[in-house]
Amino acid sequence: MAEKHFKYVILGGGVSAGYAAREFAKQGVKPHELAIISKEAVAPYERPALSKAYLFPENPARLPGFHVCVGSGGERLPPEWYSGKGIELILSTEIVKADLASKTLTSAAGDTFKYHTLIIATGSTVIRLTDFKVQGADAKNIFYLREIDDADKLYEAIKAKKNGKAVVVGGGYIGLELSAVLKINNFDVSMVYPEPWCMPRLFTSGIAAFYEGYYSIKGIKIIKGTVATGFISNADGEVTEVQLKDGRSLEADIVVVGVGGRPLTTLFKGQVEEDKGGIKTDAFFKTSVPDVYAVGDVATFPLKLYNDVRRVEHVDHARKSAEQAVKAILSEGKSNDEYDYLPFFYSRAFELSWQFYGDNVGETVLFGNNDPEAPKPKFGTYWIKDGKVVGAFLEGGSPDENKAIAKVARVQPPVSSLTELEKDGLSFASKI
Ligand SMILES: Cc1cc2nc3c(=O)[nH]c(=O)nc-3n(C[C@H](O)[C@H](O)[C@H](O)COP(=O)(O)OP(=O)(O)OC[C@H]3O[C@@H](n4cnc5c(N)ncnc54)[C@H](O)[C@@H]3O)c2cc1C
Repeated sequence: MAEKHFKYVILGGGVSAGYAAREFAKQGVKPHELAIISKEAVAPYERPALSKAYLFPENPARLPGFHVCVGSGGERLPPEWYSGKGIELILSTEIVKADLASKTLTSAAGDTFKYHTLIIATGSTVIRLTDFKVQGADAKNIFYLREIDDADKLYEAIKAKKNGKAVVVGGGYIGLELSAVLKINNFDVSMVYPEPWCMPRLFTSGIAAFYEGYYSIKGIKIIKGTVATGFISNADGEVTEVQLKDGRSLEADIVVVGVGGRPLTTLFKGQVEEDKGGIKTDAFFKTSVPDVYAVGDVATFPLKLYNDVRRVEHVDHARKSAEQAVKAILSEGKSNDEYDYLPFFYSRAFELSWQFYGDNVGETVLFGNNDPEAPKPKFGTYWIKDGKVVGAFLEGGSPDENKAIAKVARVQPPVSSLTELEKDGLSFASKI
């Protein structure tokens, strides 16, 4: 079995890995010092594309079109970019053992990789209904979406079951984006989720009412307050029906499940300090183990703005945390600025596009026109805590308006009257 040595190893080949590689190159990493080891067969790409343009019926996004760093307006890094820089991309290679004490990673094929500095960038994995032993959940045509292989399988099924019926289990990001893309593919779509409204972790009932109304107008059936308890399949093992806890059942040619994820930290259990389900880091993404860093979805880091520690599963943080870690690794003791992150989440579906900045705590004020029938809906919400605006959401904003809500969330201006704030709406942000 082969043994390879590198000065720097990034474990995981997703968003963080790609942005880290770009930062390493910017800072002048020498050829053959850096390796990226990834279970996936392709170079790092912008993962959010998988639930959006990748599944479009016409001109779907395909690699190399969405390799990092195009998602943030940067240079696209195809596989040749890595070879040109002497960065080794070790693909289709799953690491099954990580021994942080001896600085050794072992692959499923038995190869070993030694490093001086490790960046853990393993991201998240999906929660499966089979994890909860839901009856029939192992039927064919029940899909999850995390990696490009999953997206390819779903794309094939969309083609094979043309104009069929789809049931989407889960009302979060993935559920909302996939319901939209299945509808665009002319599927008859039903969404099922237990909560009283979609995306309850971020959306207020007022925000959710707009999206649920909009989706209904598009012909998507929304079934709330219940869960999938079983699946019936045909003689070929393909799913045909979803049974719900409330006794109803839904016909299905395809089922897509988006019920959440969990950070991939198992390889490091007992070897590194953890917090809030992730690997605990400092403001430079250094873990409790010397020469080991953790970035992206797996890192639980100090969120300076709120004097708190958080784990964030969003692409903007994956990019920025990776860059921060690499700067810290290469600065050799020189002091860098602490990570001072402003949480930023976004999503796009149909013609809609929203952005959220800051923290969604405290009282809320809804402003603008959230009528789902409006030709160009534009509305938002502010979150107010201790008399200050701490979070802002905007649907349909222009780049300048999105910049304005980002500024509000960062500056946290005081508010004297919620009624005035509601009346001022977006102009409150524009004046900051
Ligand atoms: C379908 C989808 C749509 C999304 N859309 C949005 C969006 O619109 N907006 C937003 O803000 N965020 C979105 N996200 C979240 C965002 O993509 C993630 O937060 C981001 O990708 C995290 O980056 P990461 O580098 O930590 O992990 P990932 O990008 O997930 O990369 C992890 C990599 O590690 C590899 N890996 C894991 N374990 C091993 C192992 N043992 N051995 C070898 N390799 C391993 C994986 O194969 C993968 O390549 C979306 C996520 C998904 C799945």
